[in-house]
Amino acid sequence: MASQALDLFLSTNIEDLKAKGLYNVIDTVQGPNGPVIQIDGKSLINLSSNNYLGLATDSRLVDAAVQAAKTHGAGAGAVRTINGTLDLHNQLEEKLAGFKHTEAVIVYQSGFNCNMAAISAVMDANDAILSDELNHASIIDGCRLSKAKVIRYKHSDMEDLRSQAKAAKESGLYNKIMVITDGVFSMDGDIAKLPEIVKIAEEFDLITYVDDAHGSGVLGEGAGTVKHFGLSDRIDFQIGTLSKAIGVVGGYVAGSKQLIEWLKLRSRPFLFSTSQPPAVIAACIAAVDILMNDKDLIDKLWENGHFLKDGLRALGYDIGHSETPITPCIIGDEVKTQQFSKRLIEEGVYAKSIVFPTVLKGTGRIRNMPTAAHTKEMLEQVIGVYEKVGKEMNLIG
Ligand code: PMP
Repeated sequence: MASQALDLFLSTNIEDLKAKGLYNVIDTVQGPNGPVIQIDGKSLINLSSNNYLGLATDSRLVDAAVQAAKTHGAGAGAVRTINGTLDLHNQLEEKLAGFKHTEAVIVYQSGFNCNMAAISAVMDANDAILSDELNHASIIDGCRLSKAKVIRYKHSDMEDLRSQAKAAKESGLYNKIMVITDGVFSMDGDIAKLPEIVKIAEEFDLITYVDDAHGSGVLGEGAGTVKHFGLSDRIDFQIGTLSKAIGVVGGYVAGSKQLIEWLKLRSRPFLFSTSQPPAVIAACIAAVDILMNDKDLIDKLWENGHFLKDGLRALGYDIGHSETPITPCIIGDEVKTQQFSKRLIEEGVYAKSIVFPTVLKGTGRIRNMPTAAHTKEMLEQVIGVYEKVGKEMNLIG
């Protein structure tokens, strides 16, 4: 019989979420997650995945995965440090290091895991972390796990960062101080001010940590935000995911040989969680090969991003200040935003609403994620639906 205390906890909290309109109903995609998806038997243009380059359904990745499963089996069999390091894992790490222009790379099971692993492997209760207030949940959790003092600075506010860094340094309370930022902020599509961050870091001897989940494969000819700013040798940690532009699953840290050596010795998900299966790693290798040799997909992604932004802006929507293909359409009111998304989906456009607490109250939005796999015709259809539903709901004139 279930514990009464657990029952009470679960039922109270689930009811509370329902009462606040925060109960998330999960949709099931029937078949592949491409530019068009099937949900409840209906075809919808998909603007809600992170599959920036369309690689999640690319036949070259699928073939590599099938082949690796045949040669290496379905599972890796153990954690990396026992005998779960297959030749494929080493190949992927070497390839990624070349791609990111760093000495070495360590691969983890997910981007989320990566932040849990890497921050706590170097930071502890005697340290402090300066963290942008809009950083991703996995950074927040990774910081908590480290037990370091977390000091949040205002989003991309370099004056605030500098004054907090100065105060932390001059307090003499901390052995080490780190500054952590997303490379690209996923809700607004803005880019971190890395040149200024690096300057402040060099002034106060801060460790620099950039989570580039949304910049890798998108900026810097695919190598990410750090490369975009030409800072490859001035950032200590570059985090990437294998789940977004790369189209598969996993995460990695790119950095110096010594840093990666330490993470291989001490980061807990590497030591205590089974490594990724051969099919996943082989598909990632195929994706990195494609990215290194063919920039057309990245160009197509940007072209599609501009096309969608121009179309929505021309209709009179507030699309925020995105500097990347991420295209928010800011509606404001939470309930109206959710109703808008529901109508878009009914009209054949799968574009989900993002509301408080994921974004600030009153800044509810539809977050559109165009990819390289969308055709012009699909995006024209999307803009047409935005016009129809927006007029119907009096969101545009
Ligand atoms: N960092 C950032 C900035 C992210 O946006 C995400 C994904 N939402 C992650 C880490 C986690 O990556 P993954 O999905 O590969 O676990």
